[in-house]
Amino acid sequence: MSAAPTSGPLRVAVLGCGVVGTQVVRLLTEQADDLAARIGAPLTIVGVAVRNLDAERDPVVDPDLLTTDAQSLVRRADVVVELMGGIEPARSLILEAISHGAAVVTANKALLAQDGPTLYAAAEAAGVDLYFEAAVAGAVPVVRAVRESLAGDDVRRVLGIVNGTTNYVLDRMAAEGLDLDMAVKEAQALGYAEADPTADVEGYDAAAKAAILASLAFHTRVSLDDVGREGITALTADDVAWAARTGHVLKLLAIAERVHDEETGRDGVLVQVHPSLVPEGHPLAKVGGSFNAVFVESDAAGELMFLGRGAGGAPTASAVLGDVVSVARHRVLGGKGPVESSYADLPVLPAGAGRARYQVRLDVEDRPGVLAQVAALLAEHEVSIEAVRQSPAAGDAAHLVITTHIASEANLRATVAAIAELAVVRAVLSVLRVEGA
Ligand code: NAP
Repeated sequence: MSAAPTSGPLRVAVLGCGVVGTQVVRLLTEQADDLAARIGAPLTIVGVAVRNLDAERDPVVDPDLLTTDAQSLVRRADVVVELMGGIEPARSLILEAISHGAAVVTANKALLAQDGPTLYAAAEAAGVDLYFEAAVAGAVPVVRAVRESLAGDDVRRVLGIVNGTTNYVLDRMAAEGLDLDMAVKEAQALGYAEADPTADVEGYDAAAKAAILASLAFHTRVSLDDVGREGITALTADDVAWAARTGHVLKLLAIAERVHDEETGRDGVLVQVHPSLVPEGHPLAKVGGSFNAVFVESDAAGELMFLGRGAGGAPTASAVLGDVVSVARHRVLGGKGPVESSYADLPVLPAGAGRARYQVRLDVEDRPGVLAQVAALLAEHEVSIEAVRQSPAAGDAAHLVITTHIASEANLRATVAAIAELAVVRAVLSVLRVEGA
């Protein structure tokens, strides 16, 4: 089933008039003529749902359009643009809109990562579009690229810097030697981080985007619970400084990859968010400040990178409007756009199933034979060494930085646990994955 052509103006309901909603209303209003020409029919805003009618709003928002009755608003729309955020009532309102035959555009990554399959299935059954470009990496057109442009290719791996707040924080730690708390406070003062930065610094926001990207890239349903997650809160100024000393940049990466599972003999999908050492020469190492970037490795296309502003009212509104134009065109011409597909249905693998290069930093006693003991344990666990760097530390201690060849995560973790037990090892300072090499 898919929508028949519609003639005449298309009715648009905007749910939410905050950072993004306001800019969407602005573009719908100020670009109305251009949008009508691109779509083939004018768009009419039939209402803007908010919580508080008395809140101060940008003058671009006509006060007569504001309503607190989002439910009746969605029943009068051809296109519903959900920009409220959160799970409820956004989820129920989207389902209501779909059941009334409206196309839906949303930027709600949290909802899609938690309950996307329910929404996709409802839209599919009703024959309406559900578009969500702005849910991953703001203005960066990566959803469309993975879902449509790469639909004929086989994606092997997606590496993303999809959280601008943590990218800014890590950047400042690297540039100024700040510790994490200071860098987060600076980001808050500049409006890059929320008063409660947990969703960003603990990696929840990136994990939601990783789940969405993985679902699209591997045609498999991946939810937030499937994503292995480690934020940046354990990183120290020392970790960042040592990254630079060894020719790397520390980034919080969302990584979705197709992995061969030795146990089952099948391919599976592994999705993780964790701090990673990115070699200085890799394109992702140069993504600074609050920018987002997604690096895709696929069989035929090879390597692709998408870069741009990952947040902010206007950039995010650009992605939302792109979706609005697409779904509105489908209304005018009849039919609907491509859907996310889950036909491959690959198993989602646990975090320990991964393989990567690692960098392990140790504080050890500065005496002969220490390196041999550490190397013996690595060999015992089939983790081979790519490089070792030893430098004196305070007193009779030495600093050992070991970079491994590709090793299984499970073997690496077992090795590090054994190394920590050695009498000559004073502390395991950090264990970080090296990605993008
Ligand atoms: P925001 O500034 O907090 O705005 C939320 C809006 O939704 C407000 O206008 C609020 O009304 C309204 N709202 C909230 N709950 C409501 C309810 N129960 N009924 C009616 N209205 C309700 O949020 P935002 O930053 O624009 O984000 C919107 C969405 O875009 C989220 O899903 C977010 O994840 C996503 N997104 C945001 C960005 C960004 O840079 N901000 C980037 C990418 C994606 P009041 O104004 O009356 O409070």
